[in-house]
Amino acid sequence: MPTISFPSYPTVETSYTSLPESFFQSTKPTPVSTPKVVFWNDTIATEFQFDHWKKEEESTAHFFSGTTLPEGIRPFAQAYAGHQFGHFTMLGDGRAIVMGELQNRSGERFDFQWKGSGRTKYSRNGDGRATLSAMVREYIMSEAMFGLQIPTTRSLAVVATGEPVLREETQMGAVLTRVARSHIRVGTFEYAYQALSLEELEALFRYTAKRHAPDVFTEENPALTFLEVVMKRQVELVTNWMRVGFIHGVMNTDNMSISGETIDYGPCAFMNGFSARRVFSSIDVNGRYAYTNQVGIAQWNLACLANSLLPLIDKNQETAVELAKAKMTELESWFQQSYIRMLGEKIGIPNATEQDLPLLQSLYQWMQDTEADFTNTFLVLEGTFTPKDSIYQESRWKDWVKTWQEEKKKRGIRDEDAIALMRKTNPSLIPRNHLVEIALANANQGNTNVVEQFIERSKSPYNREEGYDYSREVPVGGDGNYRTFCGT
Ligand code: AMP
Ligand code: MG
Repeated sequence: MPTISFPSYPTVETSYTSLPESFFQSTKPTPVSTPKVVFWNDTIATEFQFDHWKKEEESTAHFFSGTTLPEGIRPFAQAYAGHQFGHFTMLGDGRAIVMGELQNRSGERFDFQWKGSGRTKYSRNGDGRATLSAMVREYIMSEAMFGLQIPTTRSLAVVATGEPVLREETQMGAVLTRVARSHIRVGTFEYAYQALSLEELEALFRYTAKRHAPDVFTEENPALTFLEVVMKRQVELVTNWMRVGFIHGVMNTDNMSISGETIDYGPCAFMNGFSARRVFSSIDVNGRYAYTNQVGIAQWNLACLANSLLPLIDKNQETAVELAKAKMTELESWFQQSYIRMLGEKIGIPNATEQDLPLLQSLYQWMQDTEADFTNTFLVLEGTFTPKDSIYQESRWKDWVKTWQEEKKKRGIRDEDAIALMRKTNPSLIPRNHLVEIALANANQGNTNVVEQFIERSKSPYNREEGYDYSREVPVGGDGNYRTFCGT
């Protein structure tokens, strides 16, 4: 192994390892043979004071593949559990290792994690590795999510390992550096509740609340308030996913972050033609995580969190259950309000309530029946885009538009105000599946330009550029049988 000298870099802390040892394994990434940086996110590099690190330097490839580490880095893998498709399982970082915590220029703490960095004690039968394709996909999708202004983990680098990874066929391996407010999941609390002592659960709670919701400690019931904070973040997150047609695909409790960020870009995708039951993930055969189920699943996952917090909510179990149940009822109404409000904003009606549901439902039913393009339909309404598709000539569509115009008038909503609201709410650009595939195929061939261009465009998805050809973005035949894989 050559001696590598590293440029200076900010302090890497590991506050997580102040938790009892049952929460992590101190371990290092497994070195790879010929690491090469394929993608380097300049914005993140600058934010975390890696701006003088160069993509082409050997030291960068070594650090961000975990092959050679500077002195003083003390990486660890995290233990967690989770409900996967409804079934409780012990898990943990089986192919990811946390490098440590770094602060951005505003002094906020983020985890840096190598994903695809080799086996850990939590790997079970897995090889601890990830494919280049899956890591580039995560990079593309998470940057698109960030551009859409939806909370998400991000990526600093994708480093090709130069080693093959055996999946259904042999693929190129890669390590992605994921940047997250933390990697503490609903599943981390389930693990502490199910497998550890009350003291350990309490330690996790104190640590997590200090990091993500420090104000709860001055409240009368810190654990219950913490639950509420986490719930509200998920309400916001999932409402936003629904707004842009995002289907996470694998909303297991281990993939729900306490920080409220979108995490774990496996089989996720954005839908083209609208269907409430749209599923892309090849393993989600029953549609548990279908588009429209996401709101209910988020509540199911948060019930798992509530359950894990019970001993901290009240010493008396009955009281704790009562308090948690009341929060679950509140959660349902928060979701309802937030969801209806978002639906209203998509058609330029602010502060929509249940009274607006019939109008909204008839639009969604029309989209369902015609498989209208979800993104472009709202651009048509707004007058940004003139579609060629004949469905927009049908009387059912025209009648709905007429009713919508009348409803706006009745409420005294001016057209320009409605349009301004719609422009903020509806993206003109989502990462269309067929274009993501083209970008990935290029990356696999060693051509990184297409991905770079794709990411550049994803930075301003609410732009209404003059002459922009929206129909070009829609794949012929909608999503067809488009399938996504955990094939990680
Ligand atoms: P995911 O579906 O990516 O959320 O992963 C679920 C669990 O499987 C996590 O504990 C992962 O660490 C683990 N896992 C996924 N892929 C691998 C792999 N190739 N090797 C080892 N563990 C893995
Ligand atoms: Mg996961």
